[in-house]
Order: sequence, then C-alpha cells, then structure tokens
Amino acid sequence: MLAYAVFVLGFNYVNLDTPQYAWKLAIETWVMIIFITWILWNTGTIQSTLLNLYLLVVISSAITLDKVTTTLEIILIFAVYVFLGAKSGIEYDMAGFSETMVYFSPFVLVAYITTMLASDVHYGKMMFKALSETDEMTNLLNKRSFIPMFNKAAEVAMKYNQPLSVMMIDADNLKEVNDKHGHKAGDRLIVTIATTIEECLRTSDIICRYGGDEFVALLPQLPVSRAIETAERLRKAVENTSFDADGKLIKSTVSIGISTYPDEVGNVFELLEKADEALYECKRSGRNSVTSYSSAQVAASVEHVSSAKLYEVKQGGSRKTDKS
Ligand code: GH3
Ligand code: MG
Repeated sequence: MLAYAVFVLGFNYVNLDTPQYAWKLAIETWVMIIFITWILWNTGTIQSTLLNLYLLVVISSAITLDKVTTTLEIILIFAVYVFLGAKSGIEYDMAGFSETMVYFSPFVLVAYITTMLASDVHYGKMMFKALSETDEMTNLLNKRSFIPMFNKAAEVAMKYNQPLSVMMIDADNLKEVNDKHGHKAGDRLIVTIATTIEECLRTSDIICRYGGDEFVALLPQLPVSRAIETAERLRKAVENTSFDADGKLIKSTVSIGISTYPDEVGNVFELLEKADEALYECKRSGRNSVTSYSSAQVAASVEHVSSAKLYEVKQGGSRKTDKS
C-alpha cells in the first residue's frame, strides 16, 4: 500500500501542471490493476473478499476514459482473473471457463452501465457548453464566448504583427420595424442580417451576436482597405435582401464601423472600442454606410471645426472678436 501511495503521489506531483489527459488516467488505472492483483495474490486469489476492488478500476475507467480504453481494461482484468483462477486450481475446461464467465459477468455489466451513464453526462456537458456559447436565435457565437476568442486573435496579431480588422455591425431602425410590423418581424430581421453576414464573410472569420441588433465580426489578416471592401459588399447585400412578414416585404439596412490593427489602431485590444466609435459616426451621418475608424476621426474633426464655425456665425463674429 505504501508503494502504491508513493506511486500515486509521485506520479501526480511530477505531472502537477499536466491536464487530466487520457494517457495519464490510463497509466493510473493500469497501476491500480497491478496493485489489486498483488493484493489478491496474497489474500486468496479469486476467493479473496477483496476481489471486488477491480470494480474501482472498472468504474473509474468507464467514467474518465473512452470506450476503447475501458474495453481494453476489462480484457486485461479478465486475463488477470483467469490467471488468478488457474493459480487457485480452476481447470479451464468447458465447465471451468463457463463458471469463470458467470462470475466475471458483473464486472462487464458494471462497466457497461457506467460507460452509458458517463456518455450521457458527457453529452449533457457538450450540450450545455454549446448552449452557453451560442446565441439561440441566430446560432452565432454570443458575447461571452466571443471575448476570449477576440483576446486570442488579438494576441496572435500582435505577436506576428499581422493585420486584424473588426467590424461592428448594427441594424438600422430596428425599433421602427418592431413598432410597425411586430417583434416577430424584428426577430426575423435579426436572423436575416446574421445569415447575410455569414454569407458575405470567410469561414475563418469569427462572427458574434454582440447584443440586441448588434453584431461583431473579427477578420484576421485583413488590412483596412480590404475590410472596407468586404463591409461595403455586406452593406449592399443587406440592402438588397428582403423577407416576408405577414404578406409585407420588409427590407432593412445596416451601419458598419471598422477598425484595423495596426493600420489605424496601435493597441490591438482597443479595436472593439474604436470600431464602436466608427459605427457611431455611421449612425450620426445618416445610417446605411461603412466607416473606418480613421475616417470617423477625420469626420469628427471636420464636425468639430464646422460646429465651431456655426458658433462663430451665431455669435455674429469670430471667437477672437468675442474674447476681445
Ligand atoms: P439605430 O438605427 O440607431 O440602430 O436604431 P434602432 O432602432 O436599431 O435601435 P438601437 O440599435 O439603438 O437599439 C436596438 C433595438 O432593437 C432595441 C430593441 O427595441 C430592439 N431589439 C433588441 N433585441 C431585439 C430582439 O432580439 N428582437 C427584436 N425584435 N428586437 C430587438
Ligand atoms: Mg440598431
């Protein structure tokens, strides 16, 4: 027992930082088989009251390992069982072999039931993961699962100094569609936009429903000029798409803000914020348009200058004059 305890502690200590890989668990269960066999060898072989210790191996293998490895473990335990039986004097003629099979069948049954339960739990986990990462209405990624992907893509872009573009896409006047044609029509509009985005972008691009009627697309290795071309194609595609809502054909448009690393934004982690600023400029200038962050900045400074001029006109003279 001391030797086994030393193995378990030592093995886990050496592999402290290693995740629970199947090979690691398999090695642990194989050593467990050797340990149990040694105990049985010294306590009466298959007549030993400790024979059921093999169930521990069967259950832990069925829960943590795949079906093939569990089957291999069962075969190994069966071989050891036959060997121990031979040691205790069982003759493996037809009758002896049948009796062994009968005594061994509970192990197989336990392995089967535990494997079934484990695969149900595994399926449930997968479903839960998929549901928690996906937006139910559009089947796109949701914001929770998108953020880690964005951080990863941002790190890659920074490390290899590759361009990375972000598109912030927002439906224009969705509230109006909801008010005029009902919430269901608004939902269909959101789904239509999601489908059009998927059709217009590459399969390697990452698309997410960021919230309400807002989508974000992450376009790795796309410089700003090509991101603008793609966004313009997408904008036109949405403009030319209509759907039927209770006999009425509904159309909508989108506004798209773009920001690109390193062309426009030096800090890759600010891409979302800057794309949002560009989107704001689209909305401000009348919607159904594409604006990149750098042109949004130019527009903002032009706006600043023209509103200052307007102020001067309203005041009936220049600021200089006012001050004086
Ligand atoms: P703008 O052109 O400025 O984007 O105006 P908008 O009417 O599209 O409104 P905004 O983007 O500011 O807000 C989004 C609106 O979309 C708010 C809400 O009424 C509606 N909305 C959000 N989520 C859903 C949804 O899942 N289904 C439907 N039908 N409407 C939604
Ligand atoms: Mg909107």
